Amino acid sequence: CGIVGYIGQNDTKEILLNGLEKLEYRGYDSAGIAMLNDNGINLFKVKGRIAALRQRVDSSVHATMGIGHTRWATHGVPSEENAHPHQSASGRFTLVHNGVIENYQDIKREYLQAVDFVSETDTEVIVQLVEQFFAETNDTAKSFRKAMSLLKGSYAIGLIDNEDHDTLYVAKNKSPLLVGLGDGFNVVASDAMATLKETNQYLEIHDQEIVLVNRNFVEVQNLNGKVLERQPFTTKIDA
Ligand code: GLU
Repeated sequence: CGIVGYIGQNDTKEILLNGLEKLEYRGYDSAGIAMLNDNGINLFKVKGRIAALRQRVDSSVHATMGIGHTRWATHGVPSEENAHPHQSASGRFTLVHNGVIENYQDIKREYLQAVDFVSETDTEVIVQLVEQFFAETNDTAKSFRKAMSLLKGSYAIGLIDNEDHDTLYVAKNKSPLLVGLGDGFNVVASDAMATLKETNQYLEIHDQEIVLVNRNFVEVQNLNGKVLERQPFTTKIDA
């Protein structure tokens, strides 16, 4: 299980699929990717291997930002419906998550009574919660931070807002997550192994932080929205 993300100038399909292959060693039962372009979100998921996902992905789709996931099911059987990425009810938000949300039932009861869930996962509450808060705040980063502050458990998360073609939103708590820095692009991964082909410069993300990942800059924030300084480190492993 793991996540990968890319935002840059190049086509993201191969970068995501190759990244997911590099995460295969972590174990998984299903996989998926979501890519945003002028046609909106292009979502592909399968139960089974990355090779099957590769077959499923429409090779004519071109996009310069996307997120990918390998799932090791904890809540809900391995199936296409339960595979990530998951979407909010309106389809505006799309999310991948590695980890376990311990209080997802409480969150459902308290905040999401009116929502029709399409999966059996703990993960889907996160994306529905972001949408719920967005309806109140009209601010994605704020809604994302607010959602994160309610979650108990472990997560590495990648989020796309359909209306924002310049930002990947990521967050971490007790699950591994790195942001990789490039020239005109940036990447996100559970393990630098997934993105070593792209860069050897990484930012370590700490628990309870979110990151706004743009093509040309990266902004680390705490859950109050305070911007934090972070120096990159260089990985010494070869791709
Ligand atoms: N708990 C989530 C699920 O069951 C994510 C599992 C994972 O880390 O792959 O869908």
